Amino acid sequence: MSLAKASVLALREFLKCERVLISSHVRPDPDAIGSILALREAVIQCGGTPTCILEDECPKRCLFLHGAAEILVAKGTSGLAPFSTAIIVDSGNRDRIGEVENFLSPESRLANIDHHVSNTKFGDLVLLDTDAAASGEVLYEIFRELGLTFSPSIATNLLAGILTDTGRFRHSNTSANSLRVAADLVEAGASLQTLTEQLYYSIPAEDVRSTSQILDTLELLEGGMIATMFVSSEHAVEDPDNLVDLGRAIRGVEVAVLFSEMRDGRIRVSMRSNSHVNVSEIAEKFGGGGHERAAGFRMFGTFRSVQQKLLPVLSNALRDASVTCQD
Ligand code: AMP
Ligand code: MN
Ligand code: MN
Repeated sequence: MSLAKASVLALREFLKCERVLISSHVRPDPDAIGSILALREAVIQCGGTPTCILEDECPKRCLFLHGAAEILVAKGTSGLAPFSTAIIVDSGNRDRIGEVENFLSPESRLANIDHHVSNTKFGDLVLLDTDAAASGEVLYEIFRELGLTFSPSIATNLLAGILTDTGRFRHSNTSANSLRVAADLVEAGASLQTLTEQLYYSIPAEDVRSTSQILDTLELLEGGMIATMFVSSEHAVEDPDNLVDLGRAIRGVEVAVLFSEMRDGRIRVSMRSNSHVNVSEIAEKFGGGGHERAAGFRMFGTFRSVQQKLLPVLSNALRDASVTCQD
């Protein structure tokens, strides 16, 4: 484990707090949800009282995770005094918690637990392991060091993040350690079969229909090295990961980009690269972040205007990485 032991032990002070806020990024994915729910149980084990608040609702496919019903949504929650202690997980910067900021004060003590290479190291206690495939993997190491009990529900919540952030153990972030941790979590009672059924084989029928519309928007640019797709708000799907992954799977493609229309007039940009281009660096140029091979940002504009701003930056990155088209 690359985390300093003293820092890990310092987290106990957060976990045993009378009143501790646990949060993660906007539009939470299974790593965000699984991690806050595992932390919720860890706080209970340590004698503290957790409150989980997110800017957005828990996605439907994550509702089966133990504790999901306890997650509060910032907008619908009022009358809570600011929290003096908070743990923020899977969020590369403080802004990514969105309106949950309203439940903090400038004096709040923050722990920042994460695995994003773009993490700004905000907070009073930073537990950042950029070698970890998921925040679930970081938390596994922390909980082990702290001697916490891996109940079947903690194990399931942690494995949900590892399973999804590694793209079901296929992406380049899947290390020997990710696999060892996953094996330990299965031994502790997590069921890969249940996780797969709930997270991947419960797609709403209309999302499958929308997928065909989205695939029709595929464009291959720069001699086939860049694949882009567009998701209009009308065709939004619960889990767009497979779509951007399909773009990346096309022979000759180095970078796949999914542009999704948001309700507030912004476009959400999701980027994946195969071997050479550091998409986190590109996302950071546009105020976002992520990992070397998976990153994103949001920008006001139309699909075309955002695509036009991004393409020259991607082309330069391809040139700098000396990627040449194969046809
Ligand atoms: P996505 O393409 O939305 O699945 O995101 C890929 C990775 O980039 C995830 O680890 C996200 O947490 C991260 N990411 C996406 N959007 C942003 C953003 N606006 N700011 C920072 N990190 C982001
Ligand atoms: Mn996440
Ligand atoms: Mn993650």
